[in-house]
Amino acid sequence: MTDGRSHQGRVVSDGLAIGRTAVLKRREGEILRIPVDPEAVDDEIERFRVAIATTSAEIGKTRDRVEELVGADLAGIFAAHDLILNDRLFVDEVVRRIRDELVNAEWAVHETSAGLEEQFARIETEHLRERGEDLRDVTRYLMRSLQGISHHELSEMSRDRIVVADELTPSEALRLGRRGVAGLALEAGGPNSHTTIVARALKVPLVVGLGAVSDRIGDGEVAILDARQGLLLVDPDPEVVERYRRELEDRSHRESERSASRALPARTIDDVLIGLHANIEFPEELEDALRYGAEGIGLYRSEFLYIERSPELPGEEEHFELFRQMLVTMAPRQVVVRTFDLGGKKLARQILERDEENPSLGLRGIRLTLSRSDIFRVQLRALYRASVHGRLAIMIPMVSGMQEVWLFQALCQDVMAELRREGHDFDPQVPLGAMIEIPSAALISGHLARELDFLSIGTNDLIQYTLAVDRSNDRVAGLYQPTHPAILELLSMVTQRVGDSARLSLCGEMASNPFWTPLLIGAGIRELSMSPGAIPEVKQRIRHLDARFCRETLEAMCKNFCTSIEVDEELRRVLPLE
Ligand code: PEP
Ligand code: MG
Repeated sequence: MTDGRSHQGRVVSDGLAIGRTAVLKRREGEILRIPVDPEAVDDEIERFRVAIATTSAEIGKTRDRVEELVGADLAGIFAAHDLILNDRLFVDEVVRRIRDELVNAEWAVHETSAGLEEQFARIETEHLRERGEDLRDVTRYLMRSLQGISHHELSEMSRDRIVVADELTPSEALRLGRRGVAGLALEAGGPNSHTTIVARALKVPLVVGLGAVSDRIGDGEVAILDARQGLLLVDPDPEVVERYRRELEDRSHRESERSASRALPARTIDDVLIGLHANIEFPEELEDALRYGAEGIGLYRSEFLYIERSPELPGEEEHFELFRQMLVTMAPRQVVVRTFDLGGKKLARQILERDEENPSLGLRGIRLTLSRSDIFRVQLRALYRASVHGRLAIMIPMVSGMQEVWLFQALCQDVMAELRREGHDFDPQVPLGAMIEIPSAALISGHLARELDFLSIGTNDLIQYTLAVDRSNDRVAGLYQPTHPAILELLSMVTQRVGDSARLSLCGEMASNPFWTPLLIGAGIRELSMSPGAIPEVKQRIRHLDARFCRETLEAMCKNFCTSIEVDEELRRVLPLE
């Protein structure tokens, strides 16, 4: 924090936003405090009243069933539930909170119950104290009913809001981003977390690592989010707002100039051609990929379809239609679809059915898909069926050893045989590839290259697993160093081991930052895949580089330096960004 109303964090998704704050708070993991606009208050109260009626009916049904099964005595317990539901003190207090505090019904119910529970806990008489438990039961029922009624939801947030929260899951960021909120300001979060990737994909300015700000900011305050400098300015002077408004206008003007370089080749001054492809999470990004001149889609993170559909699982037809559209839109360019990489920090609850103590090292990526081949087959069938509509390639995530590749290949054969029996058309030669994002995969990349058609280095995870630094934990963000000499050595090693045996690209976030482009070219990478919006700057950088000089610089760095600070300094000295 720099002064009373200016908060300093870290830039992770570039951009600028002027808006009003909306402070999200979270209780017990699931219950979010979502601000409600004054004009939506009556609807929110009505939602609460409908939830009471639904809950009351539900409790009534349960009571009847219990009475039928075990008699009227036990069924009497539910009378207490009904009493609470119709208790004026409880109902009026929830309504008051929604109206006065301008918050969603879930939050108002939670806070009211918590307050009453505290009072119950202080009661000496045990019999009365137990009413606290009834209250908890009723609250649970009510929450369930509320969730079933067209939510006051994140996706209803007003578009001019700058959302301030402790942290956001990727699916929350997705709902807010899709809604088109002005910006996201988070207390925690890391530069390469999936929440960050979603924000970048949806072009929502995001600042993370702001520290405990949500208790110091009210709803509806005028704010500026300057995600270029990692700043959240609350209640700024009108002149400051005016200056930022002008900058916003300039930015949208410059944006239209950026696509002008789309037809130029990404060729170094010593004539080395670099392939530039796009990473996407949502089909609407295809337009940007084409606008900025992507030669293909180097990474489609297909798990985002699952995240969007959660808690349902997307079916074969939905998958098929999505893949078909992507292939048709990009044709004749290639689309690399990564099979769903759920697990880790990305939602997998409906598949895993339990939490893991150490999810990043648990059942994620290809491990999860192989363990749930019933779900995986749905995706694979859709992929092969879509393969006749364009140039498809299939890539598997989080490979740690060759057995996973063999199991995957066998599954593909099996799916193809099944489709053949059913009379479906498909391309039996769809290239198969794997991500190199675990050090063991990097070390056996020569073997993997001989077994597969292509490989793609995922530096986001490769850095995380090599340096043992959680990519989304802001407390160790300083240790997450893409230019750690160990990482540079690994990259060079992979390009050498892969050689000509397979196509090799790099699709981690490192590819999006033009400052690091010389290191990647120096390491021998000839194909990069990045967020579509990064393509113009990276291309511009490539066109001013000499690939041989990049290689010599990288070799000298690996020989002489053992810290990322030295690497960054040297890079700034010999190959500064213009
Ligand atoms: C990576 O790990 O670099 C990668 C591209 O995959 P994700 O960011 O989706 O884990
Ligand atoms: Mg990864």
